[in-house]
Amino acid sequence: MRAEVVVIGSGISGLTVAALLAKRNRQVVVLERNQKPGGALRHFVRRGIPFDIGFHYSGCLGSGKILRVLWEYLGIWIHLRVHPFPSEGNDCLTLRHSGKSVRAFFSYERLEDELQQAFPNEAEGVVTYLKTLRDICDSIPFYNLDLPLTPFLRGLFPPAGIGLAPFLTSLTKDPDLQAVLVSPAFLYGVSPRQASLAVHAMVAHAFISGAYAIDGGGQAIVDAFLSIFRKAGVEVLTGQEVESIIVTDGKVAGVKTSEMEISCSQAIYTGHPADLLDLVPEGTFRQAHCSRLQDLENTTSMFVVFGAVDNPASLRDLTWVNHYAIPSGLDILDVNLICPEESALLMTAPGRRYSDPALSNASRGIILMRPASWDEVAPFSIGAGGTRPASYKKWKSQSADKLLDQAKKLWGYSRIEPLAIGSPLTFRDKLGVPGGAVYGVRHCLNQYNPGAKTRLPGLWLSGQGTLMTGIVGASLSGLVTAGEIEGLEPLWDEVRQCR
Ligand SMILES: Cc1cc2nc3c(=O)[nH]c(=O)nc-3n(C[C@H](O)[C@H](O)[C@H](O)COP(=O)(O)OP(=O)(O)OC[C@H]3O[C@@H](n4cnc5c(N)ncnc54)[C@H](O)[C@@H]3O)c2cc1C
Repeated sequence: MRAEVVVIGSGISGLTVAALLAKRNRQVVVLERNQKPGGALRHFVRRGIPFDIGFHYSGCLGSGKILRVLWEYLGIWIHLRVHPFPSEGNDCLTLRHSGKSVRAFFSYERLEDELQQAFPNEAEGVVTYLKTLRDICDSIPFYNLDLPLTPFLRGLFPPAGIGLAPFLTSLTKDPDLQAVLVSPAFLYGVSPRQASLAVHAMVAHAFISGAYAIDGGGQAIVDAFLSIFRKAGVEVLTGQEVESIIVTDGKVAGVKTSEMEISCSQAIYTGHPADLLDLVPEGTFRQAHCSRLQDLENTTSMFVVFGAVDNPASLRDLTWVNHYAIPSGLDILDVNLICPEESALLMTAPGRRYSDPALSNASRGIILMRPASWDEVAPFSIGAGGTRPASYKKWKSQSADKLLDQAKKLWGYSRIEPLAIGSPLTFRDKLGVPGGAVYGVRHCLNQYNPGAKTRLPGLWLSGQGTLMTGIVGASLSGLVTAGEIEGLEPLWDEVRQCR
Protein backbone atom coordinates (compact mmCIF):
# COMPACT_ATOMS: atom_id res chain seq x y z
CA MET A 1 0.00 0.00 0.00
CA ARG A 2 1.14 3.58 -0.66
CA ALA A 3 0.23 6.94 0.84
CA GLU A 4 1.83 10.34 0.88
CA VAL A 5 1.29 10.81 4.61
CA VAL A 6 0.60 8.24 7.34
CA VAL A 7 -0.84 9.59 10.57
CA ILE A 8 -0.24 7.26 13.51
CA GLY A 9 -3.13 7.60 15.94
CA SER A 10 -6.74 8.72 15.48
CA GLY A 11 -7.24 10.92 18.56
CA ILE A 12 -8.30 14.52 18.00
CA SER A 13 -4.74 15.55 17.07
CA GLY A 14 -4.40 12.80 14.45
CA LEU A 15 -7.84 13.50 13.02
CA THR A 16 -7.06 17.22 12.83
CA VAL A 17 -3.68 16.93 11.15
CA ALA A 18 -5.09 14.35 8.70
CA ALA A 19 -8.01 16.62 7.79
CA LEU A 20 -5.76 19.65 7.31
CA LEU A 21 -3.33 17.80 5.06
CA ALA A 22 -6.14 16.18 3.05
CA LYS A 23 -7.57 19.66 2.49
CA ARG A 24 -4.19 20.53 0.99
CA ASN A 25 -4.66 17.58 -1.40
CA ARG A 26 -2.26 15.23 0.34
CA GLN A 27 -3.12 11.57 0.18
CA VAL A 28 -3.48 10.58 3.85
CA VAL A 29 -3.96 7.28 5.69
CA VAL A 30 -4.65 7.18 9.45
CA LEU A 31 -3.58 4.07 11.39
CA GLU A 32 -5.10 3.36 14.78
CA ARG A 33 -4.19 0.50 17.07
CA ASN A 34 -7.57 0.35 18.81
CA GLN A 35 -10.54 -1.27 17.13
CA LYS A 36 -12.38 2.07 17.07
CA PRO A 37 -11.03 5.48 16.04
CA GLY A 38 -11.07 8.55 18.28
CA GLY A 39 -8.45 7.98 21.00
CA ALA A 40 -9.59 9.59 24.25
CA LEU A 41 -12.63 11.07 22.47
CA ARG A 42 -14.47 7.85 21.79
CA HIS A 43 -17.40 6.92 23.99
CA PHE A 44 -18.48 3.61 25.42
CA VAL A 45 -21.97 2.37 26.20
CA ARG A 46 -23.17 0.60 29.35
CA ARG A 47 -26.79 -0.46 29.75
CA GLY A 48 -27.71 1.73 26.83
CA ILE A 49 -26.08 4.83 28.35
CA PRO A 50 -23.29 6.41 26.29
CA PHE A 51 -20.41 7.71 28.44
CA ASP A 52 -17.77 10.18 27.35
CA ILE A 53 -14.23 9.34 28.33
CA GLY A 54 -12.11 12.34 27.41
CA PHE A 55 -14.59 15.10 26.68
CA HIS A 56 -16.80 16.71 29.26
CA TYR A 57 -16.72 20.34 28.16
CA SER A 58 -14.49 22.69 26.21
CA GLY A 59 -13.64 26.31 25.67
CA CYS A 60 -12.78 28.15 22.40
CA LEU A 61 -16.02 27.28 20.60
CA GLY A 62 -17.63 30.74 20.61
CA SER A 63 -17.87 32.87 17.49
CA GLY A 64 -14.38 33.82 16.26
CA LYS A 65 -12.65 31.53 18.79
CA ILE A 66 -9.91 29.25 17.58
CA LEU A 67 -11.45 25.78 17.83
CA ARG A 68 -14.65 26.92 16.15
CA VAL A 69 -12.64 28.74 13.44
CA LEU A 70 -10.58 25.60 12.83
CA TRP A 71 -13.66 23.38 12.67
CA GLU A 72 -15.37 25.84 10.32
CA TYR A 73 -12.30 25.80 8.08
CA LEU A 74 -12.32 21.99 8.02
CA GLY A 75 -16.08 21.65 7.49
CA ILE A 76 -16.50 19.90 10.88
CA TRP A 77 -18.57 22.61 12.51
CA ILE A 78 -21.70 22.08 10.37
CA HIS A 79 -21.86 18.46 11.53
CA LEU A 80 -21.95 19.40 15.22
CA ARG A 81 -24.60 20.79 17.54
CA VAL A 82 -22.66 22.91 19.99
CA HIS A 83 -24.34 24.37 23.06
CA PRO A 84 -22.84 27.19 25.11
CA PHE A 85 -23.28 26.81 28.85
CA PRO A 86 -26.03 29.32 29.80
CA SER A 87 -25.02 32.35 31.86
CA GLU A 88 -25.99 30.55 35.09
CA GLY A 89 -23.76 27.57 34.19
CA ASN A 90 -20.63 27.21 36.29
CA ASP A 91 -18.08 25.01 37.98
CA CYS A 92 -19.43 25.00 41.53
CA LEU A 93 -16.37 24.74 43.79
CA THR A 94 -17.04 23.49 47.32
CA LEU A 95 -14.12 23.95 49.67
CA ARG A 96 -13.77 20.69 51.51
CA HIS A 97 -12.74 22.09 54.89
CA SER A 98 -14.93 25.17 55.24
CA GLY A 99 -17.89 23.92 53.15
CA LYS A 100 -17.95 27.31 51.43
CA SER A 101 -19.13 27.21 47.79
CA VAL A 102 -17.96 29.51 45.04
CA ARG A 103 -19.36 29.47 41.51
CA ALA A 104 -16.71 29.73 38.83
CA PHE A 105 -18.76 31.22 35.99
CA PHE A 106 -17.68 30.98 32.36
CA SER A 107 -17.54 34.75 31.95
CA TYR A 108 -14.89 37.20 33.18
CA GLU A 109 -17.47 39.70 34.40
CA ARG A 110 -19.61 37.20 36.31
CA LEU A 111 -16.59 35.42 37.73
CA GLU A 112 -15.12 38.67 38.99
CA ASP A 113 -18.42 39.62 40.69
CA GLU A 114 -18.68 36.18 42.31
CA LEU A 115 -15.09 36.25 43.58
CA GLN A 116 -15.47 39.80 44.91
CA GLN A 117 -18.55 38.75 46.84
CA ALA A 118 -17.04 35.54 48.16
CA PHE A 119 -13.71 37.16 49.10
CA PRO A 120 -14.53 40.83 49.88
CA ASN A 121 -11.08 41.50 51.38
CA GLU A 122 -9.22 40.18 48.36
CA ALA A 123 -10.44 42.53 45.65
CA GLU A 124 -7.00 43.52 44.44
CA GLY A 125 -5.75 39.94 44.13
CA VAL A 126 -8.85 38.90 42.21
CA VAL A 127 -8.55 41.77 39.75
CA THR A 128 -4.83 41.16 39.22
CA TYR A 129 -5.36 37.43 38.65
CA LEU A 130 -8.04 37.93 36.03
CA LYS A 131 -6.20 40.76 34.30
CA THR A 132 -2.98 38.72 34.18
CA LEU A 133 -4.76 35.78 32.50
CA ARG A 134 -6.24 38.10 29.90
CA ASP A 135 -2.95 39.92 29.27
CA ILE A 136 -1.04 36.65 28.81
CA CYS A 137 -3.60 35.26 26.40
CA ASP A 138 -3.77 38.49 24.46
CA SER A 139 -0.17 37.83 23.43
CA ILE A 140 -0.91 34.26 22.27
CA PRO A 141 -2.00 33.87 18.64
CA PHE A 142 -4.51 31.09 19.41
CA TYR A 143 -6.42 33.62 21.52
CA ASN A 144 -5.56 36.72 19.53
CA LEU A 145 -5.94 35.62 15.97
CA ASP A 146 -4.45 38.84 14.62
CA LEU A 147 -0.99 37.67 15.70
CA PRO A 148 1.39 35.58 13.54
CA LEU A 149 2.05 32.05 14.73
CA THR A 150 5.75 31.54 14.10
CA PRO A 151 7.26 33.96 16.68
CA PHE A 152 5.06 32.47 19.40
CA LEU A 153 5.97 28.87 18.57
CA ARG A 154 9.67 29.56 18.27
CA GLY A 155 9.61 31.38 21.61
CA LEU A 156 7.93 28.52 23.51
CA PHE A 157 11.17 26.97 24.72
CA PRO A 158 12.92 26.88 27.10
CA PRO A 159 9.86 26.42 29.28
CA ALA A 160 10.94 28.69 32.11
CA GLY A 161 8.88 31.67 33.18
CA ILE A 162 6.78 32.47 36.19
CA GLY A 163 5.45 29.62 38.31
CA LEU A 164 1.74 29.48 39.13
CA ALA A 165 2.32 28.85 42.84
CA PRO A 166 4.59 31.89 43.55
CA PHE A 167 2.28 34.07 41.48
CA LEU A 168 -0.79 33.04 43.45
CA THR A 169 0.82 33.20 46.85
CA SER A 170 1.99 36.72 46.02
CA LEU A 171 -1.62 37.68 45.24
CA THR A 172 -3.37 36.23 48.26
CA LYS A 173 -2.68 34.46 51.52
CA ASP A 174 -6.28 33.21 51.72
CA PRO A 175 -6.07 29.42 51.13
CA ASP A 176 -9.68 29.27 49.98
CA LEU A 177 -9.14 31.88 47.30
CA GLN A 178 -5.88 30.18 46.27
CA ALA A 179 -7.81 26.92 45.85
CA VAL A 180 -10.47 28.58 43.73
CA LEU A 181 -7.91 30.27 41.49
CA VAL A 182 -5.85 27.10 40.92
CA SER A 183 -8.91 24.94 40.21
CA PRO A 184 -8.45 24.92 36.39
CA ALA A 185 -5.32 22.79 37.09
CA PHE A 186 -7.77 19.86 37.35
CA LEU A 187 -8.23 20.26 33.59
CA TYR A 188 -4.56 19.97 32.63
CA GLY A 189 -3.34 17.69 35.40
CA VAL A 190 -0.23 19.50 36.68
CA SER A 191 0.23 20.29 40.35
CA PRO A 192 0.14 24.07 40.87
CA ARG A 193 3.64 23.84 42.38
CA GLN A 194 5.01 22.62 39.05
CA ALA A 195 2.67 24.54 36.76
CA SER A 196 3.67 27.63 34.86
CA LEU A 197 1.48 30.69 34.98
CA ALA A 198 1.41 30.79 31.16
CA VAL A 199 0.03 27.25 30.75
CA HIS A 200 -2.47 27.86 33.53
CA ALA A 201 -3.57 31.08 31.84
CA MET A 202 -4.09 29.31 28.50
CA VAL A 203 -6.39 26.69 30.00
CA ALA A 204 -8.22 28.91 32.48
CA HIS A 205 -8.79 31.68 29.93
CA ALA A 206 -10.33 29.23 27.44
CA PHE A 207 -12.99 28.23 29.99
CA ILE A 208 -13.53 31.63 31.59
CA SER A 209 -14.22 32.98 28.10
CA GLY A 210 -17.07 30.47 27.65
CA ALA A 211 -17.70 26.75 28.13
CA TYR A 212 -19.43 24.56 25.57
CA ALA A 213 -21.06 21.15 25.30
CA ILE A 214 -21.58 19.15 22.13
CA ASP A 215 -24.52 16.87 21.38
CA GLY A 216 -23.15 13.34 21.43
CA GLY A 217 -19.91 14.49 23.13
CA GLY A 218 -16.47 13.42 21.91
CA GLN A 219 -17.94 10.67 19.74
CA ALA A 220 -19.84 13.29 17.72
CA ILE A 221 -16.55 15.05 17.01
CA VAL A 222 -14.99 11.78 15.82
CA ASP A 223 -18.03 11.04 13.63
CA ALA A 224 -17.85 14.53 12.10
CA PHE A 225 -14.22 13.93 11.10
CA LEU A 226 -15.04 10.51 9.67
CA SER A 227 -17.78 12.04 7.61
CA ILE A 228 -15.48 14.64 6.00
CA PHE A 229 -12.83 11.93 5.50
CA ARG A 230 -15.25 9.90 3.38
CA LYS A 231 -15.50 12.83 0.97
CA ALA A 232 -11.80 13.70 1.10
CA GLY A 233 -10.66 10.10 0.53
CA VAL A 234 -8.81 9.80 3.86
CA GLU A 235 -8.65 6.16 4.95
CA VAL A 236 -8.79 5.31 8.66
CA LEU A 237 -7.55 1.78 9.33
CA THR A 238 -8.26 0.52 12.85
CA GLY A 239 -6.75 -2.43 14.70
CA GLN A 240 -3.40 -1.42 13.15
CA GLU A 241 -0.67 -0.81 15.68
CA VAL A 242 2.37 0.72 14.04
CA GLU A 243 5.34 -1.36 15.13
CA SER A 244 8.08 0.41 13.23
CA ILE A 245 8.88 3.33 11.01
CA ILE A 246 10.89 2.34 7.96
CA VAL A 247 13.88 4.57 7.32
CA THR A 248 15.78 4.48 4.02
CA ASP A 249 18.64 6.81 3.06
CA GLY A 250 18.20 8.77 6.27
CA LYS A 251 14.54 9.62 5.75
CA VAL A 252 11.08 8.13 6.33
CA ALA A 253 10.14 5.56 3.69
CA GLY A 254 7.14 3.86 5.28
CA VAL A 255 5.53 2.35 8.36
CA LYS A 256 4.89 -1.24 9.36
CA THR A 257 2.14 -2.85 11.40
CA SER A 258 1.92 -6.56 12.10
CA GLU A 259 -0.40 -6.87 9.10
CA MET A 260 0.77 -4.39 6.53
CA GLU A 261 3.44 -2.09 5.26
CA ILE A 262 2.63 1.33 3.87
CA SER A 263 5.18 3.29 1.86
CA CYS A 264 5.06 7.00 2.60
CA SER A 265 7.37 9.99 2.67
CA GLN A 266 5.83 11.57 5.79
CA ALA A 267 4.79 9.90 9.04
CA ILE A 268 3.14 11.78 11.90
CA TYR A 269 3.19 10.14 15.32
CA THR A 270 0.55 11.29 17.83
CA GLY A 271 1.06 8.88 20.75
CA HIS A 272 3.19 9.41 23.85
CA PRO A 273 6.50 10.92 22.61
CA ALA A 274 8.63 8.47 24.63
CA ASP A 275 7.04 5.52 22.80
CA LEU A 276 8.33 6.86 19.49
CA LEU A 277 11.77 5.58 20.46
CA ASP A 278 10.54 1.98 20.08
CA LEU A 279 9.37 2.67 16.54
CA VAL A 280 12.49 4.16 14.96
CA PRO A 281 15.77 2.37 14.20
CA GLU A 282 18.39 2.66 16.92
CA GLY A 283 20.63 5.67 16.45
CA THR A 284 17.92 7.78 14.78
CA PHE A 285 18.10 10.30 17.60
CA ARG A 286 21.06 11.43 19.66
CA GLN A 287 21.32 9.85 23.11
CA ALA A 288 20.58 13.17 24.82
CA HIS A 289 17.34 13.50 22.88
CA CYS A 290 16.34 9.89 23.68
CA SER A 291 16.94 10.52 27.37
CA ARG A 292 14.91 13.69 27.22
CA LEU A 293 11.93 11.84 25.71
CA GLN A 294 12.28 8.92 28.13
CA ASP A 295 12.43 11.24 31.12
CA LEU A 296 9.35 13.28 30.24
CA GLU A 297 7.15 13.62 33.30
CA ASN A 298 3.46 12.97 32.95
CA THR A 299 0.27 14.49 34.25
CA THR A 300 -1.81 13.08 37.06
CA SER A 301 -3.95 10.00 36.68
CA MET A 302 -7.58 9.76 37.76
CA PHE A 303 -9.98 7.30 39.32
CA VAL A 304 -13.31 7.60 37.51
CA VAL A 305 -16.72 6.12 38.25
CA PHE A 306 -19.24 6.06 35.41
CA GLY A 307 -22.64 5.58 37.03
CA ALA A 308 -26.35 5.74 36.38
CA VAL A 309 -29.34 7.15 38.19
CA ASP A 310 -32.87 5.80 37.83
CA ASN A 311 -34.47 9.18 37.95
CA PRO A 312 -32.67 11.67 35.65
CA ALA A 313 -34.81 14.52 37.00
CA SER A 314 -32.89 14.19 40.27
CA LEU A 315 -29.81 15.40 38.40
CA ARG A 316 -31.49 18.53 37.10
CA ASP A 317 -29.11 20.98 38.70
CA LEU A 318 -26.13 19.05 37.29
CA THR A 319 -26.93 19.83 33.67
CA TRP A 320 -25.05 23.09 33.40
CA VAL A 321 -23.16 22.90 36.69
CA ASN A 322 -20.10 20.76 37.29
CA HIS A 323 -19.65 20.12 41.00
CA TYR A 324 -16.12 20.13 42.37
CA ALA A 325 -15.03 19.52 45.96
CA ILE A 326 -11.51 20.87 46.42
CA PRO A 327 -8.99 21.19 49.24
CA SER A 328 -7.85 24.64 50.37
CA GLY A 329 -4.54 25.99 49.16
CA LEU A 330 -2.58 24.56 46.27
CA ASP A 331 -3.23 20.84 46.82
CA ILE A 332 -5.94 20.28 44.24
CA LEU A 333 -4.14 17.39 42.53
CA ASP A 334 -2.60 15.81 45.61
CA VAL A 335 -3.86 12.31 46.37
CA ASN A 336 -4.63 11.62 49.98
CA LEU A 337 -3.27 8.05 50.00
CA ILE A 338 -4.92 7.18 53.31
CA CYS A 339 -8.39 8.33 52.25
CA PRO A 340 -8.12 8.87 48.46
CA GLU A 341 -11.83 9.64 48.25
CA GLU A 342 -11.12 12.80 50.24
CA SER A 343 -8.92 14.16 47.47
CA ALA A 344 -10.41 16.68 45.02
CA LEU A 345 -13.57 15.38 43.38
CA LEU A 346 -15.50 16.30 40.24
CA MET A 347 -19.06 15.26 39.60
CA THR A 348 -20.34 15.96 36.12
CA ALA A 349 -23.07 14.73 33.79
CA PRO A 350 -22.05 15.64 30.24
CA GLY A 351 -24.81 13.48 28.73
CA ARG A 352 -27.45 15.72 30.30
CA ARG A 353 -26.35 18.52 27.99
CA TYR A 354 -27.31 16.65 24.83
CA SER A 355 -30.45 18.05 23.21
CA ASP A 356 -30.99 15.29 20.62
CA PRO A 357 -33.94 13.15 21.83
CA ALA A 358 -32.26 10.11 20.25
CA LEU A 359 -29.55 10.49 22.92
CA SER A 360 -31.94 10.88 25.85
CA ASN A 361 -30.53 7.81 27.60
CA ALA A 362 -27.31 9.75 28.13
CA SER A 363 -29.13 11.96 30.64
CA ARG A 364 -29.03 9.10 33.18
CA GLY A 365 -25.24 9.03 33.18
CA ILE A 366 -23.08 10.61 35.84
CA ILE A 367 -19.30 10.76 36.10
CA LEU A 368 -17.27 11.06 39.31
CA MET A 369 -13.57 11.73 38.99
CA ARG A 370 -10.73 12.23 41.46
CA PRO A 371 -6.93 12.40 41.09
CA ALA A 372 -5.33 9.00 41.55
CA SER A 373 -1.80 7.84 42.19
CA TRP A 374 -0.03 4.95 40.49
CA ASP A 375 0.86 3.72 44.01
CA GLU A 376 -2.81 2.81 44.51
CA VAL A 377 -2.76 0.29 41.66
CA ALA A 378 0.90 -0.76 41.64
CA PRO A 379 0.15 -3.97 43.59
CA PHE A 380 -2.25 -5.07 40.83
CA SER A 381 -0.26 -3.98 37.82
CA ILE A 382 1.18 -7.26 36.64
CA GLY A 383 0.24 -7.85 33.02
CA ALA A 384 -2.14 -5.79 30.92
CA GLY A 385 -5.87 -6.09 30.35
CA GLY A 386 -7.60 -9.26 31.50
CA THR A 387 -4.88 -10.82 33.63
CA ARG A 388 -5.32 -8.73 36.74
CA PRO A 389 -5.84 -10.34 40.13
CA ALA A 390 -9.31 -10.65 41.68
CA SER A 391 -8.15 -8.34 44.47
CA TYR A 392 -8.01 -5.55 41.88
CA LYS A 393 -11.72 -5.88 41.14
CA LYS A 394 -12.45 -5.75 44.85
CA TRP A 395 -10.27 -2.68 45.35
CA LYS A 396 -11.93 -0.90 42.42
CA SER A 397 -15.40 -1.62 43.66
CA GLN A 398 -14.61 -0.56 47.25
CA SER A 399 -12.93 2.61 46.02
CA ALA A 400 -15.95 3.40 43.84
CA ASP A 401 -18.31 2.92 46.79
CA LYS A 402 -16.23 5.31 48.90
CA LEU A 403 -16.37 7.91 46.14
CA LEU A 404 -20.13 7.54 45.84
CA ASP A 405 -20.44 7.98 49.62
CA GLN A 406 -18.46 11.20 49.32
CA ALA A 407 -20.74 12.45 46.54
CA LYS A 408 -23.74 11.67 48.71
CA LYS A 409 -22.25 13.51 51.69
CA LEU A 410 -21.22 16.50 49.60
CA TRP A 411 -24.11 16.88 47.19
CA GLY A 412 -26.84 14.54 48.37
CA TYR A 413 -27.09 12.19 45.40
CA SER A 414 -27.86 8.85 46.97
CA ARG A 415 -28.85 6.53 44.16
CA ILE A 416 -25.96 6.25 41.76
CA GLU A 417 -25.24 2.77 40.45
CA PRO A 418 -21.66 2.31 39.27
CA LEU A 419 -21.56 0.80 35.74
CA ALA A 420 -17.88 1.15 34.87
CA ILE A 421 -14.72 2.21 36.66
CA GLY A 422 -11.52 3.67 35.27
CA SER A 423 -8.31 3.50 37.32
CA PRO A 424 -4.70 4.44 36.50
CA LEU A 425 -4.35 0.87 35.17
CA THR A 426 -7.34 1.28 32.87
CA PHE A 427 -5.99 4.56 31.50
CA ARG A 428 -2.50 3.13 31.07
CA ASP A 429 -3.85 0.27 28.98
CA LYS A 430 -6.63 2.05 27.10
CA LEU A 431 -4.90 5.35 26.42
CA GLY A 432 -1.38 3.92 26.18
CA VAL A 433 0.15 6.43 28.60
CA PRO A 434 2.64 5.58 31.34
CA GLY A 435 1.09 5.67 34.79
CA GLY A 436 -2.37 6.20 33.24
CA ALA A 437 -1.64 9.92 32.96
CA VAL A 438 -5.02 11.20 31.77
CA TYR A 439 -3.64 14.30 30.06
CA GLY A 440 -0.43 12.66 28.78
CA VAL A 441 2.86 14.51 29.13
CA ARG A 442 2.98 17.40 31.58
CA HIS A 443 3.25 20.95 30.28
CA CYS A 444 4.97 22.62 33.17
CA LEU A 445 7.95 24.59 34.37
CA ASN A 446 11.37 23.20 33.52
CA GLN A 447 10.23 20.48 31.19
CA TYR A 448 11.03 20.51 27.50
CA ASN A 449 8.09 19.11 25.55
CA PRO A 450 9.03 18.10 22.02
CA GLY A 451 7.79 20.20 19.10
CA ALA A 452 6.41 18.95 15.77
CA LYS A 453 9.76 18.66 14.00
CA THR A 454 12.13 15.74 14.55
CA ARG A 455 15.68 15.21 13.35
CA LEU A 456 14.52 12.48 10.98
CA PRO A 457 13.35 13.96 7.65
CA GLY A 458 9.72 13.03 7.06
CA LEU A 459 8.98 12.19 10.72
CA TRP A 460 6.76 14.58 12.68
CA LEU A 461 5.14 14.62 16.09
CA SER A 462 1.71 15.85 17.09
CA GLY A 463 -0.67 15.31 19.99
CA GLN A 464 -1.26 16.51 23.53
CA GLY A 465 2.34 15.78 24.52
CA THR A 466 3.68 18.39 22.11
CA LEU A 467 1.92 21.75 22.17
CA MET A 468 -0.79 21.50 24.82
CA THR A 469 -3.31 19.13 26.35
CA GLY A 470 -7.13 19.03 26.16
CA ILE A 471 -9.34 19.03 23.09
CA VAL A 472 -8.24 22.55 22.25
CA GLY A 473 -4.54 21.89 22.85
CA ALA A 474 -4.44 18.57 20.98
CA SER A 475 -6.40 20.04 18.05
CA LEU A 476 -4.00 22.96 17.87
CA SER A 477 -1.06 20.55 17.97
CA GLY A 478 -2.54 19.03 14.78
CA LEU A 479 -2.74 22.50 13.25
CA VAL A 480 0.87 23.25 14.16
CA THR A 481 2.16 19.96 12.75
CA ALA A 482 0.27 20.46 9.48
CA GLY A 483 1.66 24.01 9.42
CA GLU A 484 5.24 22.82 9.89
CA ILE A 485 4.76 20.54 6.88
CA GLU A 486 2.84 22.96 4.64
CA GLY A 487 4.17 26.31 5.83
CA LEU A 488 3.02 27.74 9.12
CA GLU A 489 1.97 31.25 8.23
CA PRO A 490 0.19 30.41 4.92
CA LEU A 491 -1.87 27.76 6.71
CA TRP A 492 -2.52 30.04 9.70
CA ASP A 493 -3.67 32.78 7.29
CA GLU A 494 -6.07 30.40 5.56
CA VAL A 495 -7.52 29.10 8.81
CA ARG A 496 -8.05 32.47 10.46
CA GLN A 497 -9.86 33.77 7.40
CA CYS A 498 -12.80 31.70 8.70
CA ARG A 499 -13.29 34.11 11.59
C1 LIG B 1 -10.95 11.11 31.76
C2 LIG B 1 -10.58 12.25 30.85
C3 LIG B 1 -11.37 13.41 30.84
C4 LIG B 1 -11.03 14.48 30.00
N1 LIG B 1 -11.85 15.57 29.94
C5 LIG B 1 -11.59 16.57 29.06
C6 LIG B 1 -12.50 17.67 28.89
O1 LIG B 1 -13.56 17.73 29.51
N2 LIG B 1 -12.14 18.67 28.02
C7 LIG B 1 -10.98 18.62 27.31
O2 LIG B 1 -10.70 19.56 26.54
N3 LIG B 1 -10.11 17.59 27.43
C8 LIG B 1 -10.39 16.56 28.27
N4 LIG B 1 -9.54 15.49 28.37
C9 LIG B 1 -8.27 15.51 27.60
C10 LIG B 1 -8.46 15.21 26.13
O3 LIG B 1 -9.34 14.10 25.97
C11 LIG B 1 -7.10 14.85 25.51
O4 LIG B 1 -6.18 15.89 25.80
C12 LIG B 1 -7.14 14.68 23.99
O5 LIG B 1 -8.24 13.90 23.59
C13 LIG B 1 -5.82 14.03 23.52
O6 LIG B 1 -5.84 13.85 22.12
P1 LIG B 1 -4.58 13.23 21.38
O7 LIG B 1 -4.95 13.09 19.95
O8 LIG B 1 -3.35 14.02 21.69
O9 LIG B 1 -4.33 11.80 22.06
P2 LIG B 1 -5.20 10.47 22.09
O10 LIG B 1 -6.65 10.78 22.09
O11 LIG B 1 -4.65 9.66 23.19
O12 LIG B 1 -4.87 9.78 20.69
C14 LIG B 1 -3.66 9.12 20.41
C15 LIG B 1 -4.03 7.88 19.59
O13 LIG B 1 -2.84 7.30 19.06
C16 LIG B 1 -3.01 5.90 19.07
N5 LIG B 1 -1.67 5.28 18.98
C17 LIG B 1 -0.61 5.50 19.80
N6 LIG B 1 0.44 4.76 19.39
C18 LIG B 1 0.04 4.08 18.28
C19 LIG B 1 0.69 3.18 17.40
N7 LIG B 1 1.94 2.79 17.59
N8 LIG B 1 -0.02 2.69 16.35
C20 LIG B 1 -1.32 3.05 16.14
N9 LIG B 1 -1.98 3.91 16.95
C21 LIG B 1 -1.31 4.43 18.01
C22 LIG B 1 -3.72 5.64 20.39
O14 LIG B 1 -4.36 4.38 20.40
C23 LIG B 1 -4.71 6.80 20.42
O15 LIG B 1 -5.95 6.45 19.83
C24 LIG B 1 -9.87 14.40 29.18
C25 LIG B 1 -9.08 13.23 29.17
C26 LIG B 1 -9.45 12.16 29.98
C27 LIG B 1 -8.64 10.89 29.90
